[in-house]
Amino acid sequence: MIVVCPTCTAKNRLESAQLNDDPLCGQCRTILLQKKPIELNEKNFSTFIQYSDLPIVIDLWADWCGPCKAMAPHFAHVASQYQQVVFAKINTETNPRLSQAFHVRSIPTLVLMNKTTELARVSGALKATELKQWVDQNITKVSFT
Ligand SMILES: [Zn+2]
Repeated sequence: MIVVCPTCTAKNRLESAQLNDDPLCGQCRTILLQKKPIELNEKNFSTFIQYSDLPIVIDLWADWCGPCKAMAPHFAHVASQYQQVVFAKINTETNPRLSQAFHVRSIPTLVLMNKTTELARVSGALKATELKQWVDQNITKVSFT
């Protein structure tokens, strides 16, 4: 499978068994599965979405949004519990084209993507337990290859 490096966007080809060994990026030698939210933006988004074989949970947020900020620690906490799901944040203010592409009407909005397919979406701030439940429910729609 392909795991895209959150630091340098190199595409790393790994066996699924290797995912449990804290693999490093072949190019920049940083940890590939950081178990914390990464930043996606208009530069790195398309590489991730096209190549990452790991499903991605995207938090579309903005600096002025109180509920987004309230949810951030919950999002980070849940991210730490999943090794094989990428948790990513997209700042809708600094990435207006992505925000538009996702047809974001209110924030925070969470979107679960598997490659370029949107599998699930929910709007409004979730607490850690609710977020985990939402991920667990919808991750079953991912077909791992
Ligand atoms: Zn790298």
